[in-house]
Amino acid sequence: MLDGSGSPARRLDVAVSNGRIVAMAASIMERGTEEIDARGMTVAPGFIDIHSHGDGGLRDDPRMESVIRQGITSIVVGADGSSRFTGDPANSFDTWAERTNTLRPSVNIASMIGLGTVRGAVVGEADRSATAAEMARMTAMVERAVSEGACGASSGLEYTPGAFASESELVALCRPLSARGLSYATHMRNEDDQLLESIDESVAVARGARCGLQISHLKQQGTRNWHKIDACLARLTVARAEGIAAWFDVYPYVAYATGLTNLFPTWSRDGGDAAFLARLADSATATRIRQEALAKVELIGGWDNVQISRVARAEDRDAEGKRLGTWAASRQQDPYEAAVGLLRRNNTDVGMLGFAMSEDNLDRLLAHEFSMVCSDGGGFAIDGPTRRGSPHPRGAGTFPRVLGRYVRERRALSLEQAVHRMTARPASRVRLKDRGLLAVGLAADIVVFDPATVSDTATFANPFQYPAGIVHVIVNGYWSLRSGERPGEGSGRVLRVAT
Ligand SMILES: [Zn+2]
Repeated sequence: MLDGSGSPARRLDVAVSNGRIVAMAASIMERGTEEIDARGMTVAPGFIDIHSHGDGGLRDDPRMESVIRQGITSIVVGADGSSRFTGDPANSFDTWAERTNTLRPSVNIASMIGLGTVRGAVVGEADRSATAAEMARMTAMVERAVSEGACGASSGLEYTPGAFASESELVALCRPLSARGLSYATHMRNEDDQLLESIDESVAVARGARCGLQISHLKQQGTRNWHKIDACLARLTVARAEGIAAWFDVYPYVAYATGLTNLFPTWSRDGGDAAFLARLADSATATRIRQEALAKVELIGGWDNVQISRVARAEDRDAEGKRLGTWAASRQQDPYEAAVGLLRRNNTDVGMLGFAMSEDNLDRLLAHEFSMVCSDGGGFAIDGPTRRGSPHPRGAGTFPRVLGRYVRERRALSLEQAVHRMTARPASRVRLKDRGLLAVGLAADIVVFDPATVSDTATFANPFQYPAGIVHVIVNGYWSLRSGERPGEGSGRVLRVAT
């Protein structure tokens, strides 16, 4: 048994009753109504996915199969500046929580408030600074959300309209986090050539707001930026020395996933989708957009490092899962024109994967003392309405992949370190006080896996495959996965940070 604290494994019996862990001892004599023989297996706290997009498909399929089958028992959503509630009285954390609980999700769900969502609701899609009155409204929305139980605030500074927030706006909106010991999680303004400047900005926001910091999915995009890993980690170490609780999360893949619009400069997306498409059609701006987009594609190594993951229109389905360079060539098209055509026909709703990161850096990031594991993925089932497109395999593979590939095969970190980065560490960052550890009195969120066989099977070519070696998963004391099979209804619920 690994208790999640990072301590070495111990051989213990664990007893659960009424959703809680009620006893842990070398040998519990009392018999249970149900018993699991976990000899040869690892028993650990259920994994906590600190950066998840599981809020997206929840309503379509609350079973969250791809999540539960990784051993995840709690997800933290509202990531990248985007939450399902604005913090307004009419669309509050409370109303979202009520609605979500009626879906009977199979995992627990905590949510941050998305600062991009807040800006969109108050300022709109335009690239301008917020007025004093708008600032007051936005701050009140964040304040309300965290008072109702939101577990932090997130930004997505590569996405519009979140990108139009200045550093001082972010500082002001994060101030309500400070008194509650919550953190600011940020998908930074840039993850390639301006990576270090973006880390400086993130640290400055946490410093100004006196709150904790979580850099979301830390990475170094583009071969020419891989060496910046040392400077990234050094900056976070300096922030720590200054008293800032700086952390980061990371997913175990060398490709990222985003919207295809992300290859295009932020300024070209000012005003929303219609304005973006109009600029693409305008010869004066189209040339400049093309130059900047081509520079971005070159940075990540060319059009075949771009894979189309999702399109809105059925007529473009054949692009899904294809490398853009190869797909365009098969149609005798210029790849840039093919990309623009896809965006036009799909009203900008096109997803992409970018193969741009370093495997060696991944080993170091996962092993680093400030790191947590995140999937950055959504939830789906291979047999349901959420089976769509050709998504990033991280949505089904992340946690088993860390345990199999990075612990067992590459030995980048130990099993107890990995489990700690998946359990107690994220629980403490989002203040889920009774989760993330196996200890008497805490919630019975438990995973049982086989350390010798646990592995991911989802790939970039075939993402709809569940992992191997995750045997049992228990959420709030109820079976969520039993010998690899899913029983009935979900036992997860919305988690609120106690205030
Ligand atoms: Zn992100």
